Amino acid sequence: MLTSKTALVTGSTSGIGLAIARTYAKNGANVVLNGFGDADEIETIRAGIEAEHGVACRYSSADMTRPDEIAAMMADAEKEFGAVDVLVNNAGIQHVSPVEEFPVEKWDAILAINLSSSFHTIRAAVPKMKEKGWGRIINTASAHALVASPFKSAYVAAKHGIAGLTKTVALEVAQNGITVNAICPGYVWTPLVERQIPDTMKARGMTEEQVKNDVLLAAQPTKEFVTVDQVASMALYLTSDAASCITGTMLQLDGGWTAH
Ligand code: NAD
Repeated sequence: MLTSKTALVTGSTSGIGLAIARTYAKNGANVVLNGFGDADEIETIRAGIEAEHGVACRYSSADMTRPDEIAAMMADAEKEFGAVDVLVNNAGIQHVSPVEEFPVEKWDAILAINLSSSFHTIRAAVPKMKEKGWGRIINTASAHALVASPFKSAYVAAKHGIAGLTKTVALEVAQNGITVNAICPGYVWTPLVERQIPDTMKARGMTEEQVKNDVLLAAQPTKEFVTVDQVASMALYLTSDAASCITGTMLQLDGGWTAH
């Protein structure tokens, strides 16, 4: 489906981004990975994608808080592959704190990574997409692009911001064969979530099931985590011709969370 296309996925060294990158490679796309982590592990992932799927896979260590590094990553991808045809803005971090105690540097980092980095990648990718008359921009937003939770002011502000950016760019490029959409997952089972469970069990004197149902999935009516593969399937669908009329949307994969 994506043969001869190139996909760049920010924050793709783990979790949702990695699942999306693997799905795109499986469907024939050359892939640019990005994110932090152990250099040997990342190289194993990169080489594994090339070997398993017979595509080219590159890795950029660009820090999504740094506009200069983002510009270099985008320029390198364009130089090597001709264009970034599918851009997935996925890198994200979280910090939980009451607003009056929220560390200023955490606010700045979350806004930079979860929101502003998408502006920098989009502005770099759009000219070639316009030239080719085809492009897909997919932003990993969150249920928190649509509703709020207490103590997550920066994350919710950034994710609501990405909703605005998604809709605005969608309107600007609507007649250029480019679609721009946001995927809005609820709680997704990633290493990040899994790692919180033992500590929360200890801190609250709860069983694993209680932590999952009453803490993590308190807002998610199905009481089931979304899987990274379900998010990746949606990201693949959005690249298909069948999805060419879907643009400017917030697509919820949240087990009913935002139906409340
Ligand atoms: P994760 O921690 O597994 O992945 C985050 C990725 O972002 C990693 O590859 C990490 O290295 C990268 N990253 C972090 N800071 C970076 C920086 N400064 N520069 C470049 N890369 C950086 O988390 P995940 O759960 O897979 O989250 C991915 C996206 O999905 C995020 O935008 C997150 O907000 C969103 N999301 C996650 C959930 C969930 O429940 N896990 C729910 C809704 C939305």
